[in-house]
Formats: sequence, C-alpha cells, structure tokens
Amino acid sequence: MSGFEYVRADDLDSAVALVSGDPGAAYLAGGTTQLDLVLKDRVVHPSRLVDIGRLPLRGTTLDGDRLRVGALTAMEELAADPVLAARLPFVREALLAGASTQLRNMATIGGNLLQRTRCRYFRDPDVPACNKRAPGSGCAAVTGAARMHAILGASANCVALHASDLCVPLTALDAQVHVQGVDGRRVVPLTRFYVLPGDRPDVENVLAHGEVVTHVDLPLLPAGTASGYLKVRDRASYEFALTSAAAALLVVDGTVERARVALGGVGTVPWRAVEAEAVLVGAPASVETFRAAAEAAIHDPFTVPGTEFKVELAKRTVVRVLSTVSGVRS
Ligand SMILES: Cc1cc2nc3c(=O)[nH]c(=O)nc-3n(C[C@H](O)[C@H](O)[C@H](O)COP(=O)(O)OP(=O)(O)OC[C@H]3O[C@@H](n4cnc5c(N)ncnc54)[C@H](O)[C@@H]3O)c2cc1C
Repeated sequence: MSGFEYVRADDLDSAVALVSGDPGAAYLAGGTTQLDLVLKDRVVHPSRLVDIGRLPLRGTTLDGDRLRVGALTAMEELAADPVLAARLPFVREALLAGASTQLRNMATIGGNLLQRTRCRYFRDPDVPACNKRAPGSGCAAVTGAARMHAILGASANCVALHASDLCVPLTALDAQVHVQGVDGRRVVPLTRFYVLPGDRPDVENVLAHGEVVTHVDLPLLPAGTASGYLKVRDRASYEFALTSAAAALLVVDGTVERARVALGGVGTVPWRAVEAEAVLVGAPASVETFRAAAEAAIHDPFTVPGTEFKVELAKRTVVRVLSTVSGVRS
C-alpha cells in the first residue's frame, strides 16, 4: 500500500482548499466506504485524506416545506428524526433497510450519496479489466459471474450498480444537493447529480474535484400522500438490494393524482422511473395500472449472464410497492 497524508479539517473552507489543491486528495467522512477501498481492498490510492467528520454539517432543520439534512448527519440519526418519520416515512424505511445499526451510526448522508459501487471486480485489485478503476481496460463483470449488478443505464462498458437504498426515495422526491467548491456554492438536483457510465464509467457524478456536499434538502410529501420503500434481498437482516422500489402516491377517489417512483438495485445510478409515473398519473389505482407502470419502468434492460432474473423481479417489486402504498390488492 502506498502511503497517504491524513489531515483533519478545522473548517469547511480549508477542507475544500486541501482537497481542491491536490488532484490525489479525497474526503473522509464516516469512513465506512472510503477506508475499505483504501486500506482493505486497496483499489483507491489517495495522496491525502481530508477528514471532515468534525465539521458542523450535522443535524436536520425544518425549513418551510423541506427538511434540510447536514451532509455529516449519520444515517441512524436521520432515521430517528421525528419530522422524517411523520412526513417522509419512505426515506426512513430506506435508511433502516440499509447496512447495520453499527454502520448506520458511522455512515453519513453525504457519504451514502457518494458511496462507491459494490461491484466485486471494481473492488478486486487483481482484476485488470475494470473501466471504472482503469479507464479503457474493459469490464470483467460483463463476461464473468455477475449478480449484484445493474440492468438499467448499463452497457458492455460497465454494469456496476449504485447500491444506495437512501438514494432511491431521495431520487423519487427530487432532493436537492448543496455543494461547495473553491468557486463557491451551487445546488444540484439529485436526479442530475449522477452520470450514466457511457464510455467513461470512472466519471460517476457532476462534482468537480474538491467540491464537498454540505447538505441535502428533502421536500416534504404533500398532505395525503402515502409512501413506501420495498427492498428485496437475499437475507432480511443485512444485505444490499437485489431490487428495490420507492413510491409516493396521492390517490383521490380511486384515481392516482400524483406519483413518484424510483428504483434501486437495478441502475448504474439511482433510477427515477418517470415512464412509470406517466402511466400512473390519471389512471385508476388498480393492479392492472401498477403492472403497466412496472412494464414502463423496466424498459430496454441490459443484462449479462447472471442478471436476467432482475428484469422480472424489478417489475414485481414495483407492483408490490405500489399495491402496498395504495392499499389496492389483486
Ligand atoms: C458492510 C456494508 C454494508 C452496507 N450496506 C448498505 C446498504 O444495505 N444500503 C446502503 O444504502 N448502503 C450500504 N452501505 C454503504 C454505506 O451506507 C456507506 O458506506 C456510507 O453511507 C458511506 O458514508 P461514510 O460517511 O462512511 O462515507 P466515507 O466512507 O467516509 O466516504 C465515502 C465516499 O464519499 C465521499 N464523501 C463523503 N462525504 C462527502 C461529502 N460530504 N462531500 C463529498 N464527498 C464526500 C468520500 O470521499 C468517499 O469517496 C454498506 C456499507 C458497508 C461497509
């Protein structure tokens, strides 16, 4: 392992300067992803890790019709927030479906958004073919054993999954990500925060080098909206999603008036299912409508040997979450 400099930042401006001024520098928050990649898997080789863990970017504030969440708020801390529980229950469900209690007490919201893929080939330095790790080297997952991989937004260049649970309802909600860099602050909608791999799988998001996430704004669900998060996984106690879906529905007199749907476990980025939403809005809240929405959500999948099962599983996940949220059963 090559060495790196460890620096604990005293304030946000110096943290941004320390990372921006060194092309090999990176942020360290709770460390649950970063330290694995650097010290255990040894696939990330920073020259400097800037620890932002003690900066005052922690906690939530209710600001009108949105909940502002500091980037260093721990997942478990956010899950315990009473406003979140009352007004954004599907976000709470997704948080509590992720990782373990111990991890959730270390893992931060900013780190969750920026967690790296769990693709086993990306995390194995002995595998040479990984376009995400070594641009232009190929993708070992396309021909090797694959299962926990993406079927949407994927291609022969990369099938690495964005594995976050939290990002699924946040994508459905249109959460807004606040970032700060050397050139100032800006706000990026989460739906435009991630970049499809295309022919540059190493570029994962729109952040410039050194930009730090300071907080995330979560719009509260309108009154009368029901929501839910369903995660399908190999074991209920502790596992990443095979497929997942988040839905928020406003149903009035049996008709869907408002719909937000996003998918997890299937996309190279957290996947907003706008086609499903278009099918749902104005349609009767019925299992037939939900099936049509699921077909629309999972269109043009890219599968490799080992991931074909996700196509049908993802559709069933969408139908199930919509049925549960609306209370409509077949
Ligand atoms: C065993 C295990 C199981 C897990 N299971 C799940 C699961 O089921 N569901 C799920 O959603 N997640 C799961 N995770 C992922 C976990 O949620 C993330 O590791 C965690 O949220 C990352 O947060 P962190 O504060 O530890 O980030 P770190 O590890 O410190 O950083 C992660 C990345 O984010 C960057 N970063 C961190 N904060 C910022 C910031 N504010 N601005 C800019 N960049 C930043 C770092 O530079 C790094 O690249 C699991 C992780 C582990 C280790």
